[in-house]
Amino acid sequence: MHALSTFRTIGDMRAQVAAWKAEGLRVGLVPTMGALHDGHLSLVRALEKKADRVIVSIFVNPTQFAAHEDLDTYPRQEADDLAQLQSLNQQATPAVHAVYLPSVTDIYPQGFATQITLQGPALGLESDERPHFFGGVAVVVAKLLMQSQCDVAIFGEKDFQQLLVIRQMARDLDLPCEILGGPIMREPDGLAMSSRNAYLSQDERTIAGTLNVILAQLAHASEPPEQAEEKARAALKAAGFDAVDYACLRDGESLGPLHAGSRTRRALIAARLGKTRLIDNMSA
Ligand code: AMP
Repeated sequence: MHALSTFRTIGDMRAQVAAWKAEGLRVGLVPTMGALHDGHLSLVRALEKKADRVIVSIFVNPTQFAAHEDLDTYPRQEADDLAQLQSLNQQATPAVHAVYLPSVTDIYPQGFATQITLQGPALGLESDERPHFFGGVAVVVAKLLMQSQCDVAIFGEKDFQQLLVIRQMARDLDLPCEILGGPIMREPDGLAMSSRNAYLSQDERTIAGTLNVILAQLAHASEPPEQAEEKARAALKAAGFDAVDYACLRDGESLGPLHAGSRTRRALIAARLGKTRLIDNMSA
């Protein structure tokens, strides 16, 4: 069992990274908001193959939540998260070398006044419902990448639009970090794993299991996109979802509208069940 170092300040984390870099080691980062599940752990395992040292960051980022959203109730379970990460370290070589747990004031010190404005893949879909969201994500991810000086970072396809936004930002700002994507991990009934699944009641959990089935039908539909999207919305309502934020077929590379030259297509759904908002996506 390899010990897991925990760092709570930028300075402590940077001292460790500097020591690794002096040895010529390649550093990888898995940014998370904690309440870890197998989706997060799969990203760690994937990054283990691409980096000599892996840092997992756990930070519930207030700037990506709107005032009416679930910042206060977002699950926080640090001891359990650390135990899950520790359990990955039972092989001869550890999968995780350090956990970075910054405080809100470490990330957003008094007087913090910088914002990032995004276009391209950030337009539409999530931004229509959560206009504050990608700006908050971009700032925290840019900060975590720069603080950790990581050579490579990995993000889940679960948040596919977010992955494209981060890739675009890293390219546009010349951040010296390779951005990797990891596949979506699912529960046995196909529900995409998410920290927010913990909010679901038993009845809602049953309904939630239909989302990926409807998503697959949308992804592989043979009708014209608008018709297939309408059908998916109706199916979600019939299955018991309270509201559908979007059910869309998009170009798989840009997430813009599908066009004759689209090489792949991706179905994306955001739907609400009680107080829980679920998102999922699938390529076809
Ligand atoms: P979060 O803690 O929700 O901010 O997620 C941290 C990272 O884990 C993000 O890059 C997510 O896309 C990724 N992630 C979340 N759920 C899954 C999943 N079911 N499969 C793979 N990656 C995931």
